[in-house]
Amino acid sequence: FASCLLISPLVAEELPLQKHDTVARSILAKMTTDEKIGQMIQADTAGLVDPKDVADYHLGSILSGGGSDPAAGNSLQNWTQLYESLQQRAVSTRLGIPILFGIDAVHGHNNVLEAVVFPHNIGLGCSGNADLVQEIGRMTALEMRASGIHWTFAPCVTVPRDERWGRTYEGFSEDPDLVARLGVASLKGLQGDNVSDPTSVLGCAKHFAGDGGTIPGTGKNGWGWDQGDTKVDEETFRRVHLSTYPPVIAAGALTIMPSYSSWNGLKCSGNKYLLTDVLKKEFGFEGFLISDWEAIKQVDPDFKTAIGISINAGMDMAMEPTAYREFYDNLKALVQEGTVPMSRIDDAVLRILKVKAAMGLFADDYDYRANPELQQNFGSEEHRTVARQAVRESLVLLKNDGTFPVDKTAKRIHVAGAAADDLGIQCGGWTIDWQGKSGDVTSGGTTVLDAIKSSVGPDTEVTFSADGAGAEGADVAIIVIGEQPYAEFEGDNKELELSAENQAVVQTVHDSGTPTVTVLFSGRPMIINESLENSDAFIAAWLPGTEGLGVTDILFGDHKPTGKLSFTWPRSIDQLPINHNDGKTNPLFPFGFGLTE
Ligand code: BGC
Repeated sequence: FASCLLISPLVAEELPLQKHDTVARSILAKMTTDEKIGQMIQADTAGLVDPKDVADYHLGSILSGGGSDPAAGNSLQNWTQLYESLQQRAVSTRLGIPILFGIDAVHGHNNVLEAVVFPHNIGLGCSGNADLVQEIGRMTALEMRASGIHWTFAPCVTVPRDERWGRTYEGFSEDPDLVARLGVASLKGLQGDNVSDPTSVLGCAKHFAGDGGTIPGTGKNGWGWDQGDTKVDEETFRRVHLSTYPPVIAAGALTIMPSYSSWNGLKCSGNKYLLTDVLKKEFGFEGFLISDWEAIKQVDPDFKTAIGISINAGMDMAMEPTAYREFYDNLKALVQEGTVPMSRIDDAVLRILKVKAAMGLFADDYDYRANPELQQNFGSEEHRTVARQAVRESLVLLKNDGTFPVDKTAKRIHVAGAAADDLGIQCGGWTIDWQGKSGDVTSGGTTVLDAIKSSVGPDTEVTFSADGAGAEGADVAIIVIGEQPYAEFEGDNKELELSAENQAVVQTVHDSGTPTVTVLFSGRPMIINESLENSDAFIAAWLPGTEGLGVTDILFGDHKPTGKLSFTWPRSIDQLPINHNDGKTNPLFPFGFGLTE
């Protein structure tokens, strides 16, 4: 099957971690079994029973998961203090091994209030602009390092094949080649030329593998897709879902997160063939595997058995937000009993230490504290300018009867729809809150309504109504509708219909006879037929993030739309799954579609 892959496995001389072997081995040689086991554990800031556990359990890593709101709050200063206080505990231990601190910075440093929030990956996929995606990775790294935090669980190199899956927007495209190209760019931006550079962060490719290929009825919620089963033969699995990994490994991916999902009924997190034979041996992955959040527990109903299976399958670090003490005791027992061989523990710890060495954490001049110079540039105009460019390049014009672009000197522009003035809807999930939330979720951004008001001419009146009433008599109406924010399984959706409220706004404005341009914020293609019909022009804006001005750059014709669909847009729900190379015909809009004016 290796012949299915265009990229050949890495050869030994090219392995990026080889040069850190000696340092890592010298540290490993000093470690007790307890210290080795602790090194393989990642606890969560919100689940930490006692901050002293960082030292007492010899923890190798800490995360602040998307779902956890640090008690310290979400300002840059509070995040910095949280990170530094835990790192201080780690470096004060017997061996002084720094912890890795991980976070889901998946569209900018999105857990911090003043951060610039970039478009979610689905929009970047429609831009097709690898240089831009690399630049976004770079800016994300700079904002992360301003808080000291140096590891993000990104890029997501999933290949979503069915947009009813709640994580579709985390993927760049349904097309594996486009995903690989942009995944590589993102990783390069995050890690820079050298991951030891104090302005670079460590990336993590996820979720290995097949997370985007799950079928209905197998998911966590019992009926959906997320964390479900990908039932396909090996040739298809390799071509569609595994093929995005060799390119990111070649580009320097040092950590990879195995998926919650299963492949033909077997959980990836316990699949030795996938984790060890394919990923580590065949693809030459030298870095370490970090489990997903409590994913090891899903491998077997008995936690101890699950740990044995997963670690022996090749998992190197366990994301155990709250049950880390239990994990520690169980893994220790498994080693004492001989169920998990010491050689496997040594291999896992060596991989972790090599990555830490590559990040410069063992350098004599290593300084874990956040860089105050980077804090000056946090949420800066410079970063917002890049995000604004990303927004405009991600927008896809689906329909235009001539109403688009909107004349910004028109006498009256009516803006309709609550989503026009809602940063939370504009940013989507993974924004401060795991699920995201409607409203003023983050600070420092510009809604589309703000952007329209600041872009129009001095003689133009801008009126607004959430429900569309009042559009009558305006020269043109800009309608903004959108999905309520969601993440993971909570976003699984069988229908993909626009909400009744969304449809009503479009209908009301249409009935007023005012020409309309509709803008849709969504994490995926939706079933839009009627609203499309009721609009004179229609733009898919995905989840653009904090920079509403990127939307008005296109709306008012200051820049031409260039975005092209990175997903096939279905006409009806019964067409799903539908992808451009699966032989299915008659989508509403094909993959690659996008009008220029
Ligand atoms: C998600 C991962 C994420 C992790 C940590 C999990 O629920 O599947 O993508 O990195 O949480 O927040």
